[in-house]
Amino acid sequence: MKYNDLIAYLDCKKIYFELNKMTKELVSFNIGGPADIVIYPTKIEEIMDIVTFLVSDKIKYIFLGNGTNTIFSDNGYSGVVISTKKFNSISICDDSIICFCGADISDCCMSAYHNCLSGIEFAYGIPGSVGGFVYMNASAFNFSASDVVYKTTVLDISTFDIFDIILDEHQYSAKHSIFMDNKNYFIISTELKLRKSNKSNIYHKMQENLSKRKKSQPLDYPSAGSAFKRPKNGFASKLIDEAGLKGKRIGGATVSEKHAGFIVNSNNASFSDVIALVDLIKKDIKNKYGILLEEEIIFIE
Ligand SMILES: Cc1cc2nc3c(=O)[nH]c(=O)nc-3n(C[C@H](O)[C@H](O)[C@H](O)COP(=O)(O)OP(=O)(O)OC[C@H]3O[C@@H](n4cnc5c(N)ncnc54)[C@H](O)[C@@H]3O)c2cc1C
Repeated sequence: MKYNDLIAYLDCKKIYFELNKMTKELVSFNIGGPADIVIYPTKIEEIMDIVTFLVSDKIKYIFLGNGTNTIFSDNGYSGVVISTKKFNSISICDDSIICFCGADISDCCMSAYHNCLSGIEFAYGIPGSVGGFVYMNASAFNFSASDVVYKTTVLDISTFDIFDIILDEHQYSAKHSIFMDNKNYFIISTELKLRKSNKSNIYHKMQENLSKRKKSQPLDYPSAGSAFKRPKNGFASKLIDEAGLKGKRIGGATVSEKHAGFIVNSNNASFSDVIALVDLIKKDIKNKYGILLEEEIIFIE
C-alpha cells in the first residue's frame, strides 16, 4: 500500500491522522468526497518529514486551513490533506500580534482587542485561518490583509529553507498574494502590525462589523463566501444581481437571495452543481456586460 511508510512514521511520531476522511467535513461548503489521509502535524519538522515521504512516493498533497474558501470534488481527493489546525498559537509583542497559520482569524481579532490593539477589526467574523487570510489577501469593509500583514515566516517545501518575507515582498494585490504564485511556500506564521487604541472603540467596531456581516451574508447556509473575485471598477454581486441571477439554482446549489455574490449549498449540492452554476453565471455576465468574472473559490479535484 502506497501509504504504508507514511502511516508507520505517523504512528511512530504519534501524529494524529484520519484515513478516508470526508472532505465535506473539512470545508464550510459541506461538499466533497473522501481524502485518502488527513494529517494534523504540530511541528514544522513533522511537516518537512511528511512532505519528504510524499515527494519521494509521488503522492499529491494540499495544505488546508479552515476550508472556508475551498471545495473538493465529490470523488474525493486521492492524496494527502495537511491540515494546519494544530498550528494555532497567538502571541503579542508590543504593537504586533504574531499568529501561527492555523489560528482562527477571529481569535486573532479577539487577542488584539484584549490587548487594546486596533487595525484588524475588519476581519472579525471572517471564518478562515490566518494562513488562509494571508494566502487569499482576505478583505472586508475596504480593508485587506495587506493593510496589516507586516512579516510572514515561510517554509519553502522544495528546499526546507525557512525565511521571512516583509511588506511588499508579499506581492499583494486584490485577492492575490505571492503564495498563489509559489506553491512551495508554506505559511508558518505572520506578524500583524497594529496600533494601540481605545479598547471599547475596538470592541464596538468589531461588533458593528459582525452585525453588518450577519445582515448581508447568508450565514444560515453552507458556502465558501464570495464565489467570485471583485472585477475592476465594480462588484461581482452587483453584476449578478442586476443580471437577474439571484435565486438561480442548479441541483442543490443556489445563488443566494440575500447576497448575490454567494453560491450556497441549499440542498445537498454536489461539486458539479457548483461548477455548473459558476459557469452559467460567468457566461451570463460575459454576455450581458462583457466582463469575465474570476472564481475566488478554490476547486480541488
Ligand atoms: C460565510 C463566509 C464568509 C466569508 N467572508 C469573507 C470576507 O468577508 N472576506 C474574505 O476575504 N473572505 C471571506 N470568506 C472566505 C474565506 O473565509 C477567506 O478567504 C479566508 O481567509 C480563507 O481562510 P481558510 O483558512 O478557510 O482557507 P482555506 O480554504 O483552508 O485555504 C485557502 C487557500 O489557502 C491555502 N493555505 C491555507 N493555509 C496555508 C498555509 N499555512 N500555507 C500555505 N497555503 C495555505 C490553501 O492551500 C488554499 O489554497 C468567507 C467565507 C465564508 C464561508
